[in-house]
Amino acid sequence: MKAEGLSLSCPTPLGRHMTVQMAHGGGGRLMRELIERLFLPTFGSPAAAERHDSAAVTLGDQRIAFTTDSYVVRPLFFPGGDIGKLAVYGTVNDLAMSGAKPAYLSAGFILEEGLPFETLTKIVRSMADAASDCGVELVTGDTKVVDKGKGDEVFINTAGIGLIPPGVHIRPSRVRPGDVIILSGDVGRHGVAILSVREGLEFDTAIESDCASLSSLVQTILATGADVHCLRDLTRGGLASALNEIAADAGVDLEIDEAAIPVQPSVAGACEILGLDPLYVANEGRLVAFVPREYADRVLAAMRGNAVACDAAVIGRVTATGSGRVVARGPFGPARLLDLLSGEQLPRIC
Ligand code: MG
Repeated sequence: MKAEGLSLSCPTPLGRHMTVQMAHGGGGRLMRELIERLFLPTFGSPAAAERHDSAAVTLGDQRIAFTTDSYVVRPLFFPGGDIGKLAVYGTVNDLAMSGAKPAYLSAGFILEEGLPFETLTKIVRSMADAASDCGVELVTGDTKVVDKGKGDEVFINTAGIGLIPPGVHIRPSRVRPGDVIILSGDVGRHGVAILSVREGLEFDTAIESDCASLSSLVQTILATGADVHCLRDLTRGGLASALNEIAADAGVDLEIDEAAIPVQPSVAGACEILGLDPLYVANEGRLVAFVPREYADRVLAAMRGNAVACDAAVIGRVTATGSGRVVARGPFGPARLLDLLSGEQLPRIC
């Protein structure tokens, strides 16, 4: 036998899997397993262990939010947005979820040989518009090109930093029984918009992605003076996955009133035809806020005054300390358990 065929080390499985699956990047149970079993124990940072959208770190006497995200969406352009807009807003939103005012971004491009400059220029201009829209500067970057057939036109990574104001402490571990859960608007549009282009589906009403910056909305919420316990933007895995993550990380149980969750009729119809649950479909411009009951009315009113959250609604509450159960009560039927799916219903959504 040839020596190079021998291996003395055992292959390392992760859960039941020997290799990476699409669902390991899907925002569901398998991604959580990857983070818990490989990344967190190996890197071991207490800031990462908070498991928030951005890490809160201290430099000198300044508290800084720091985050990074990669974008692999297919198709590159879709109703209501494109990969460039997503790459800016997605990272800005993750900074905003710590209560930070986003300031500076980096952009890393992985380009496939043969990508038309017309496509790249459109994407880069869209990023510049999005950055100026939310008041951040793209200050550094990187470009790599891979051989034709070894990429998929363009992948983008952005990282970002922003200052967290004194007295602002927004993270899952602060969520408490009694907190009220406020959703900033209708859910499911981003996922359905992507799917409509990917599958060539046409609906009576054009469904556009909700892709938007949440930075000004967060500033509006903070200006109320409310002691916001947690914020989470709804991306892969939708509302249900975000609620599951926070419930598990905070060690609490949640109860949701399903009738209070806004879903556009066209999105609800499309989900019914496609066999998707809108509560698990991706969004790119929505958040949930966990606030103590005494601040709920004030925060809700302020949110409704912001253009990206005029349909904000109270959708539920934190019932008790617990094991992270999320129960949805319907208007007629019995309550159902909103569990974490193994991965995203639609891969490569962002
Ligand atoms: Mg996020």
